[in-house]
Amino acid sequence: MRRIGREEVRMKKYVGIGVYDAVAEGNIAVYGKEEYVPEKVYRGDVPGEKARLEAAREAVREQLEKSRVRTLAEAGAEVARIFEVHKMLLDDGEFNGAIRLVIEREGVNAEYAVAVTAEGLADRFAALADECLKARAADIRDISRQLLACLQGSSCEKREMEVPGVICARDLTPGETASLDREKVLGIVTARGSLYSHMAILARARGIPAVVGVGEAFLEEAGEGTPVMVDGCTGEVYLYPDAETRTFLLRKMGEQQEEKRLLEALKGKADRTLDGRSIHICANIGGAEELEAVLLNDAAGIGLFRSEFLYLGRDTYPTEEEQFAAYRKVLEGMVGKRVIIRTLDIGGDKQADYFGLGKEENPAMGYRAIRICLTRPEIFKTQLRALYRASVYGRLGILFPMITGRAELEKALEICREVKEELSARGIPFSENVETGIMIETPAAAIISDRLAPLVDFFSVGTNDLTQFTLACDRQNPEVQPFADPRHEAVLRLIRMSAENARRHGIRIGICGELAADPELTETFLRMGIDELSVSPPLVLKLRAAVRSLDLARGKGER
Ligand code: PEP
Ligand code: MG
Repeated sequence: MRRIGREEVRMKKYVGIGVYDAVAEGNIAVYGKEEYVPEKVYRGDVPGEKARLEAAREAVREQLEKSRVRTLAEAGAEVARIFEVHKMLLDDGEFNGAIRLVIEREGVNAEYAVAVTAEGLADRFAALADECLKARAADIRDISRQLLACLQGSSCEKREMEVPGVICARDLTPGETASLDREKVLGIVTARGSLYSHMAILARARGIPAVVGVGEAFLEEAGEGTPVMVDGCTGEVYLYPDAETRTFLLRKMGEQQEEKRLLEALKGKADRTLDGRSIHICANIGGAEELEAVLLNDAAGIGLFRSEFLYLGRDTYPTEEEQFAAYRKVLEGMVGKRVIIRTLDIGGDKQADYFGLGKEENPAMGYRAIRICLTRPEIFKTQLRALYRASVYGRLGILFPMITGRAELEKALEICREVKEELSARGIPFSENVETGIMIETPAAAIISDRLAPLVDFFSVGTNDLTQFTLACDRQNPEVQPFADPRHEAVLRLIRMSAENARRHGIRIGICGELAADPELTETFLRMGIDELSVSPPLVLKLRAAVRSLDLARGKGER
């Protein structure tokens, strides 16, 4: 009979949701399990409590800005937007007015006023049908926790760790996750949270092995210093792991490190199949601050620069100079490699108040992207001037989003010509070799790709929107995601059709939507004649490995 060791008796297994595929081992570092529920205290000092509230707001605002800047540098513009949204909520007039009203009417402490107002508001959002609005409930609770921590005189942003450890908490705000010292945090386990919570997004972006939603019972057991192993792939967490579990997970950890080492070795290697077919593996970015990640991962170019991020999280339009500086930086940084910059794709899920866009019933199919550019040419021309001026610093491709027909494309190209004429007349230099292309992200564009191809130099397939529009599944609505299979044959047929038309007209075609990173489809895309796959920077080398292992001459045959 097998002898049962002491540690086996003690080993406890918990299962949550793995949010980053990696294994971690260490000792628990408790981050804060207790939920602070402020008591209602009658203070009768309305001005004093209001002043405390203001001071706390100011402190939280500073913390959020710090987190935004840190995240921008580490994880890019898209992830850093979380903090812009939180800043907006912190300054929201209705939210603040309601807190002040509680202090005024009841003469109570600011802590209590914040907690009851935030809870009431969060409950209202949580009850809404719209998933985007529903998610606001978690944001409000995060802001409330930060305000309460500041009112308590402690910053909930920071937990100094003396030695490396695995963070254990009831939940973490995005600010707390962003401020964790990456050198010391071996992993994260939280009792609450979901796969798409901001904390999970940040942990993924920072490459921290993490499991969320393991349940409250875990908190009872996980004391400071308890040995723990975290499997971010399966969502399993082991307290006092036994020898067998340790051996198994350490082997898995070793394999993951080996894979990382192999990927490192692919830097500088060609994106070529075993039988010699080449493809460009490029990177998608949201701003110039992601350039470092692109270079680090040795991408062949930038396949999609989502320029709309320059317009988000601010109160006014970015000036021509600001845009010029960002485009120039990226073009110079890529030293001659192709950089495709997409013109403003605002509207839909990307909103900026100063555009003054009205509320729409169905924003994904609404007044957005090229539709705004063509009807507000002064905004479009400012961006185009910045782009053409920057074009002398590298190899630029300009990409128009949401195209559905020839007329709008012709109009966009005509505005490009006007901008070039105006620059020439003013003696301002620009490159004559700027390429123009369109997103194939509406079924209409794919269906008439034979008619659009003669007008442009390249196509770029946006599979995120192409899937949404082809399958009639709102990409913002998690409830319909089971019906939104991007590998659906209707989507693949539209891509194939566009690739055939691109080839017939001698233009290039790339894929820049999420599907580009799907290794199951790499062979299919190569066989379709796709010239470029553009993915988020950390996925470039994985895709290179997939391409280099393919042999199209001996392949399985077309899917
Ligand atoms: C797409 O739609 O696939 C795409 C790349 O654009 P975005 O995700 O920015 O809409
Ligand atoms: Mg799109």
